Amino acid sequence: MSNFNKYIALGALFIVSVFSLFYPIDVFSEKGVELQKHILVNQAQTHFQDQVNTRKWVAKYGGVYVKPLEGEKPNQYLPDNTLYVDENLTLFKVNPAWMTRQLSEIADIKDFHFRITSLIPINPNNKATPFEERALKHIDRTGQKEYYEISEGSNFEYMGALVTTKACLPCHEHQGYKLGDVRGGISVSLSSAEFRTVTSSIKNRAIILKIFVLFFLLSITLLIYKQLKHSEKLQSEVNRRTKEIESTKQLLQQIIDTDASFIVLADGKNVIYANKTILEFAGYTSVEEFREKHEYLSDMFEKVEDNDSFIQTYNDGVHWIEYVRREQDSKQLKVRIEKDGEHRYFRPYAKDIKTDDRVLYLVTFDEITNEYVKIKELEHMASTDVLTKLFNRSKLNDVLEKEIALSNAISSPLSIIFIDIDHFKDVNDTYGHDVGDKVLIDIANIISSSTRASDIAARWGGEEFMITLQSTDTAHASILAEKLRATVEEYIFAIVGNLTISLGVTEYMNNESEETFIKRVDKALYEAKESGRNRVVIK
Ligand code: GH3
Ligand code: MG
Ligand code: MG
Repeated sequence: MSNFNKYIALGALFIVSVFSLFYPIDVFSEKGVELQKHILVNQAQTHFQDQVNTRKWVAKYGGVYVKPLEGEKPNQYLPDNTLYVDENLTLFKVNPAWMTRQLSEIADIKDFHFRITSLIPINPNNKATPFEERALKHIDRTGQKEYYEISEGSNFEYMGALVTTKACLPCHEHQGYKLGDVRGGISVSLSSAEFRTVTSSIKNRAIILKIFVLFFLLSITLLIYKQLKHSEKLQSEVNRRTKEIESTKQLLQQIIDTDASFIVLADGKNVIYANKTILEFAGYTSVEEFREKHEYLSDMFEKVEDNDSFIQTYNDGVHWIEYVRREQDSKQLKVRIEKDGEHRYFRPYAKDIKTDDRVLYLVTFDEITNEYVKIKELEHMASTDVLTKLFNRSKLNDVLEKEIALSNAISSPLSIIFIDIDHFKDVNDTYGHDVGDKVLIDIANIISSSTRASDIAARWGGEEFMITLQSTDTAHASILAEKLRATVEEYIFAIVGNLTISLGVTEYMNNESEETFIKRVDKALYEAKESGRNRVVIK
């Protein structure tokens, strides 16, 4: 529901509540007033009925004769109005009408009056007052037997109809009265002071109650209104904050997506979020698709068989994210990923992100392909002999150092072959330096093609070569040395023709130094030279 509608509904609820609570108040107060009126009517009816009864009694006897009061005159409107009893006693006739009038004169006390009246009175004293006229006309018109009025500032006025009964006929038949005719009535006037006090108290209470109800409903409505306003304010604040968070999120998302690095959020092992850069690189449009294809992100990592800090799914038995977190500061960790047939290199970096209920890992991968290739080229240049493309002496020294350490560690044999071209100086002198260089290249090729992948051959100096033979004793090393010697001997070098080489062979002795190891092979080569060249000497 819109806010505007809420206020309309609140207003409607207020109005409905006011009316639904005012209605019973009005009903109760009206009932109270009615009750008071009823009491008054009852009183008047009782008085009226008393008179009617008395009249019935008088009429039953066709009027009664009474001893007149001092100075009293007989009723001139009555036939047989005087009864002569003797010279001392004459009685006057009293009919119901005269009796009622006399009684009414007696009863003419404060706050209570009644009188007999008629629209066409026989006795002019019984002429109707304006109220009585209204009442009698009303009774005449409606056929009702009573009428009353209660108006501000006056008494309660009641009129009861006097119905012609059999008892009336003997006296009034000659006047045209018929049974059931209403020829007049008795009006009763009662004080309405108490009625007014009680009803005004009822009305006042009703007003007070209404004011209270109104105040109560207003307070509740105001409270609800304030609550609505408050929640509206809260809602708009929530909306504003949500919008703010949403736009910040979008901004962050854009920043993260435009970052050249791969950015991945993982919950330990599984990917929760991956930025656009990595998704586009991997050829996916959504993280869901990415997750479907890769249970682990590390599925993408190529297995690289070299001792160069390339990480796999598990490294030293530790999952890669954990491994990256642990080793990233001490090792130059890398991953290699194949893309369109090319190797691409990345440096991973992992960081914990602690949320309320769990720890997530933000892993970034910065591409280092160009740097890595350049370093590799430099490394290669630094370790390679430009002319022969074999390793150079410095590289062989490093290799030898490692091979010695390995041999010591696992007690495996390690042999080396030292080669020197016989009378090479003559080649240079006879055919020139370039031809000499070509010979060096040919010999390097012969060495390379005769050795195993695990054997490392290097140009040791000018026209000297050294080969390290892993897991090889002198017996096997000398076989290779002999093979090399024979191959060179048979090889026809361009321009130069035949050439020979001399070779020294030796095996590493446990825990000896690299220096003594090399000195021994040098000695073997020296001996080969000394003993006539083109031969292998084992030391
Ligand atoms: P030996 O049989 O006693 O070994 O006789 P040798 O002539 O080979 O004597 P030595 O080993 O002393 O001679 C090495 C020669 O190798 C000297 C030098 O001119 C030549 N040499 C060294 N480096 C190069 C190079 O890079 N290119 C060419 N063409 N010649 C080189
Ligand atoms: Mg030499
Ligand atoms: Mg030589």
